[in-house]
Amino acid sequence: MMKHFFWSKIFLTLLLLCLIQTGFSQDLSFLWDQYGIYREPALKDRFFKHSDLVPLFQKLEKSGLFKIEIAGGSAQGRSVYHLTAGRGKIKVLLWSQMHGDETTATRALFDFFNFLKANDKNDELRNKLLDQLELHFVPMLNPDGAEMFKRRNALDIDINRDARMLVSPEARILMDIAKKIKPDFGFNLHDQSTLYSAGRSKNTATISFLDPAFNYAKDMDDVRKKARQVILLMNNVLQKLMPDKVAKYNDDYDPRCFGDTFQGMGIATILIESGGYPGDPEKEYIRKLNFYALLSALNSIADQSYLKEDVVQYEKIPENNRSLYNVLIRNVKITKQGSVFLTNLGINHTQVKDSDYRGVSYQGSIDELGDVERVYGYDEADAGDLNYTPGKLKILTKKEWENLNAESEVQLIREGYLFIKWSDAKSPAGPVKNRLLNLTNSTSVSGQVGLNQAANFLLTKQDKPVFAIINGFLLKLDQPAKVLHNTFGY
Ligand SMILES: [Zn+2]
Repeated sequence: MMKHFFWSKIFLTLLLLCLIQTGFSQDLSFLWDQYGIYREPALKDRFFKHSDLVPLFQKLEKSGLFKIEIAGGSAQGRSVYHLTAGRGKIKVLLWSQMHGDETTATRALFDFFNFLKANDKNDELRNKLLDQLELHFVPMLNPDGAEMFKRRNALDIDINRDARMLVSPEARILMDIAKKIKPDFGFNLHDQSTLYSAGRSKNTATISFLDPAFNYAKDMDDVRKKARQVILLMNNVLQKLMPDKVAKYNDDYDPRCFGDTFQGMGIATILIESGGYPGDPEKEYIRKLNFYALLSALNSIADQSYLKEDVVQYEKIPENNRSLYNVLIRNVKITKQGSVFLTNLGINHTQVKDSDYRGVSYQGSIDELGDVERVYGYDEADAGDLNYTPGKLKILTKKEWENLNAESEVQLIREGYLFIKWSDAKSPAGPVKNRLLNLTNSTSVSGQVGLNQAANFLLTKQDKPVFAIINGFLLKLDQPAKVLHNTFGY
């Protein structure tokens, strides 16, 4: 009896150890549910500026948890901040927005700062991170680019191609910090095109990873292996939330990039790219994924549980592929130069920045005609037996146009109209927000379909519109009227 008790005790102890070893300790799913507590409300879309971050840095400094230094100035003299927290032995450096218009991870970092400085039921986890890690953050490395919502800095240098020459002050700041603190891990945080898919599939590449190579031979060493293991851990966590929407980048070596250079300097460097997700134009869901994936990664670095990941599994992550269009219309019969033929139309939305760089509109145009293979659309329609029909032009006074509502605009679309011309005034060119119909100052509109041409047409059955494509947005006319993000004035 005594012996039996002894063995069952051993068994229970082993079971518990096993659970801890197999990831039991890494289940942070409660944090996914509690994310709202930590989300930084001052950052609510993609377009915040350096001046929006300054008061947040000041608030963080008051919390007493962070040491906040000004690491240097951007080309236009904006301060680049370096935050430090934690008292552990393992050093981790995370930097975001070296490309000024890639803001998702900066938002997630501020959410993470709120998590770190809180005092609540998650103290055990945050103390574990602060005890084991010395965390360094450089959020918004490129504040001048952010100011104009553009990729490059004020000198038109791509900071992530400047790791070798270091001509930009922002690149020098990052290199100086890395050389000074000599981190064990680096997180290089970016956004990528929303048109990337995970492999050749309909799945968006919502998060893409890379453990950059440190030489042209793409060799693996212990440093790069660690980066790969942390990626695999994040992949496991993300697959549960959004199956098959994780991809990996091509690992061709480029010594101009920081990731490749840092990996060669002995910093296990991980690139995280935030891509697209259906119905998430401001990438707020992807921000939450960033928060959760980063916390999971740091937790595993703190307890070294990432070391259990088998690097062979990396092969199973599909490559980033450009297989997506904003809208894909399949099997459209069109007439062009006297020929009638069946084609597919791939339509994309190009961003048009607002004059204050605090928002964007979209301009939809046809990016592909012809046969397509294994490509998909965020929105899709099969024209099947429908006919391509150019939209008509309706003449109204400016006042009459102003008085239209969504229902009356849809009614005009049902009658075959896609353009309004004002009879008594010149209408503005460019984006027209919260409308359904385009504006034009021409007396006639082109019905031509062509590469790089604006995407405005109807798909009709017995002369009745079933779908309308307006400024590249797909409108399903059997569904309730809803204004589009923006139409266009020509
Ligand atoms: Zn980038």
